[in-house]
Amino acid sequence: MHSQLTAYITLVSTSGVLNLYLCFYVFLKRHKYTNIANFFILYTAAIAIYCFSSAFGLVAVTLEQIKFWTIIQYVGMPVSSPFGLLFIMRYLGVKITKKRCMALLLIPFISLVMVATNDWHHLHYKVFEIDLSLGAPFIYQEIGIWYIVHGIFTFGCMFVALLLVFYHWKETAKVYRPQLITLMFGQFVPIITAFIYLVGLTPSGIDPVPMILWLSSLLYLWAINSSRMFTIMPIAKDAIFNSINDGVIVLDEAYRLIEYNQASKKMFPKLNKTLIGMNFKKVWFELSGSSFPSKLETATQVIHFGYDHMKRIYQVRTSSLEHANNNKGQLLIFTDITEVKRLQMELEHQAYYDDLTQIYNRRAFFQKCELAFAAATKTSSPFTIILIDIDYFKRVNDTYGHSVGDQMLIHVVQVCQAILKEDMLFARYGGEEFVLALKEGPEIKGEDLANQLRKSVEAQPLLTEQGDISVTLSLGVAEAAIDAEETLYQLLNKADQALYLAKRNGRNQVHVHTKV
Ligand code: GH3
Ligand code: MG
Ligand code: MG
Repeated sequence: MHSQLTAYITLVSTSGVLNLYLCFYVFLKRHKYTNIANFFILYTAAIAIYCFSSAFGLVAVTLEQIKFWTIIQYVGMPVSSPFGLLFIMRYLGVKITKKRCMALLLIPFISLVMVATNDWHHLHYKVFEIDLSLGAPFIYQEIGIWYIVHGIFTFGCMFVALLLVFYHWKETAKVYRPQLITLMFGQFVPIITAFIYLVGLTPSGIDPVPMILWLSSLLYLWAINSSRMFTIMPIAKDAIFNSINDGVIVLDEAYRLIEYNQASKKMFPKLNKTLIGMNFKKVWFELSGSSFPSKLETATQVIHFGYDHMKRIYQVRTSSLEHANNNKGQLLIFTDITEVKRLQMELEHQAYYDDLTQIYNRRAFFQKCELAFAAATKTSSPFTIILIDIDYFKRVNDTYGHSVGDQMLIHVVQVCQAILKEDMLFARYGGEEFVLALKEGPEIKGEDLANQLRKSVEAQPLLTEQGDISVTLSLGVAEAAIDAEETLYQLLNKADQALYLAKRNGRNQVHVHTKV
């Protein structure tokens, strides 16, 4: 008998040492591991307490000592199964809330209190005494009502953990299966041992579970080192689905909504579970109050969605989905491109507009004017260029400073814009030079328009703190000689010559290029 007891103690202590080792091993490396390590540390710590106190219980000689070590055992053992479950839940990507955690730890806490106070109520053990025939440390016990609650809870946790692993088996890639096997054994070993104990196949008077726990510890050690448990783990497909930044909406072959991810919920706040099963066109109406802008089969489209000022722009991609049962479904992927669009528009604006005056810049002018000029040539329509230059602008800068010079440029543009029509091409050509391209017609004559601009600028000084500042314009007008197959550059050159003459003739005037 003595040697048998020694063997028990050795086995239990081995389990304790291995669990303690695992606990410290993972604890020290926890920064390198994913956050499932935390529950594993608690799990192995609880088991180590359970095993060591069992070992001390086995060397106890009085009932008081055994009771004491049983209480310590209940510090670890009841929490080990919920920690094991939480560890597996986290491993499999099942959501763990604080509430769930607390709820799972409530019964273990009560069990500890029950055991510690058992002498007063006998709800955990009806009878707990030294086995008369075997002697200490063997115990004769009759279980109480709370023992049953505690037993069901402990088995329940282990069972649920085992089922969770089974449930995820199919969808887990093969490389991770050794890890899953380890997890299953980690739960299965104590379940089966406790079962054998309960049906009376193990020596009575002592708990055999801690004697066998070294086996699952060895498996964990192997999984951590060889199959890199904690460093690489499968991520639950649900977690992947929900962590995609794009909104993903899954429809079945009849275009009914069957699933959506978290991101789509954020994009469309009215999306909720009650819409599942509804035809997507109806769903969309619920979400946006309007019909879906395009056919669901269309591969890529852009939709504008949102409430009032919260308008967002989504790119929608559709791809067909093959279900397991060969039914074709549809995947709608919504990408928020609002920022990209905004940036694109900003860049386009920067590329085509002058920063200071907010009219077209030289590059935009040439791009647009070439098209307009080509169109006019094609239809032999009259086409006129007016070059505008501010007279003695340098003086404005020199007298009032560069920033007043800037204000003057803006002012001149505004005065001109008040006269010009929307469809006239007006651009900043250079420093204080502007260009205007227009299709001449009976109602617009280049020279008249140029004079209007000149008079208007002359008549409207810039009002500043330093007083009113007047400037004048010199303008060169040139009409395209369409029949002579003139190019835009030749036309601009003619306008430039006319402007030069306007300057030379005394400024503040319009000069029209005449054929020579
Ligand atoms: P002219 O009557 O012969 O056209 O004389 P001007 O002084 O207007 O012409 P000039 O070419 O000698 O000087 C043009 C000045 O315009 C020189 C430059 O410093 C100024 N300028 C060019 N771009 C800007 C600008 O964006 N802001 C300001 N404040 N000044 C500018
Ligand atoms: Mg100039
Ligand atoms: Mg000038």
